[in-house]
Amino acid sequence: RCKQRLLVVANRLPVSAVRRGEDSWQLEISVGGLVSALLGVREFEARWIGWAGVNVPDEIGQKALTKALAEKRCIPVFLDEETVHQYYNGYCNNMLWPLFHYLGLPQEDRLATTRSFQSQFDAYKRANQMFAKVVNNIYEEGDVVWCHDYHLMFLPQCLKEYNNNMKVGWFLHTPFPSSEIHRTLPSRTELLRSVLAADLVGFHTYDYARHFVSACTRILGLEGTPEGVEDQGRLTRVAAFPIGIDSDRFVRALELPQVQDHINELKERFAGRKVMLGVDRLDMIKGIPQKILAFEKFLEENPSWRDKVVLIQIAVPTRTDVPEYQKLTSQVHEIVGRINGRYGTLTTVPIHHLDRSLDFHALCALYAITDVALVTSLRDGMNLVSYEFVACQGSKKGVLILSEFAGAAQSLGAGAILVNPWNITEVASSIGYALNMPADEREKRHLHNFMHVTTHTSQEWAATFVSELNDTIVEAQIRT
Ligand code: UDP
Repeated sequence: RCKQRLLVVANRLPVSAVRRGEDSWQLEISVGGLVSALLGVREFEARWIGWAGVNVPDEIGQKALTKALAEKRCIPVFLDEETVHQYYNGYCNNMLWPLFHYLGLPQEDRLATTRSFQSQFDAYKRANQMFAKVVNNIYEEGDVVWCHDYHLMFLPQCLKEYNNNMKVGWFLHTPFPSSEIHRTLPSRTELLRSVLAADLVGFHTYDYARHFVSACTRILGLEGTPEGVEDQGRLTRVAAFPIGIDSDRFVRALELPQVQDHINELKERFAGRKVMLGVDRLDMIKGIPQKILAFEKFLEENPSWRDKVVLIQIAVPTRTDVPEYQKLTSQVHEIVGRINGRYGTLTTVPIHHLDRSLDFHALCALYAITDVALVTSLRDGMNLVSYEFVACQGSKKGVLILSEFAGAAQSLGAGAILVNPWNITEVASSIGYALNMPADEREKRHLHNFMHVTTHTSQEWAATFVSELNDTIVEAQIRT
């Protein structure tokens, strides 16, 4: 075997599985950021370990699915319904997700969450142990194990308990909050200790890494160094690895005839109007109501723009069975309805709001014809939509308005107009500034971002993380 094996462990496998019979499954690969990142890393042979997103209670079904997934280099972790409910819906999505994004819960939910905390955390640990068991079963000496995200904070420690020589990295795709926020978590100590069992811990930005280190120094009383966190002579390396996108994939898609046709259709459809675009999962962290209110304020203050601009908001449904998310959906619908009622005409409306996702090619076409993209996340680990927009703007050179609370603000800040999404006066005036921006300034800003997006790709991100992990282990061996 010449290539080093990379075991990528994430909550969800990059496939969707649909059962077609007692022992037959239909699989579809979903090309998210992580998949394309690792496809580009040729020096490793990647395997995926994770939950397939379906409940498979019977052995025949499990065997068949395992076999089908093996062809895609995927190894399933089977979680029962109760575990999914407590670990995934409960602890991950209802506890860690809001906390890491600085979102408060409504009072009654907070009390309920506090009460169910212990059973949910137990399920979280149990689930992480199930992942660890699967990893340990396929692990061979020399493999690199890369754990992903807040779902698997307990995994590094479980893995090291199996085998202290395993090379283990952990990467967080969300923000890591200030230690003052992390402190409120009843499981604050256990989670930090477990993550520290990894050899390398990575974050999107330097700020998140710094927050993590200060949580370790203040809550655990350990020593933070420029390299990471030290505990009785053992160093856990902590660093920032900003993710990117496979920009070529977007640039290539724009050249396809079907995408070109779609671009022309859209251009015709919105002729005479500037197009503003928002693309978000319909999640509290994305600041969609704030964005739409700012757009309303802009229309209010700029009557001459009312029939010359349209906001297209793609709001991809997510966690639709959760009441909080249902509430957000109706809130957004109400605001959009009000604004369209107020500023619409018999033939046009200022906001096109879609509660659905688009396929990759439709999304590329939309990015390409947009004049101003509007990202108003209240908190966002990175925000890849802003990168994808920039990658598709080679000819249009449109403007990106970007929340300073998205990780992407650290890398695209010089080319974008940065805003505080809570300040709708500021966002409204930024919309005006963006729509009126002279071509030379637009080009300069675009070029800045385009250079960044095309040189800091997802492939490079993955390669850097893994080689840093290998180096970290070599350095640790030299030290001892
Ligand atoms: N996306 C998609 N279809 C859609 C809208 C969005 O596939 O209709 C993708 C988009 O291309 C991007 C991802 O969803 O890659 C969103 O990633 P981001 O980092 O912006 O936010 P997240 O949803 O991970 O919080």
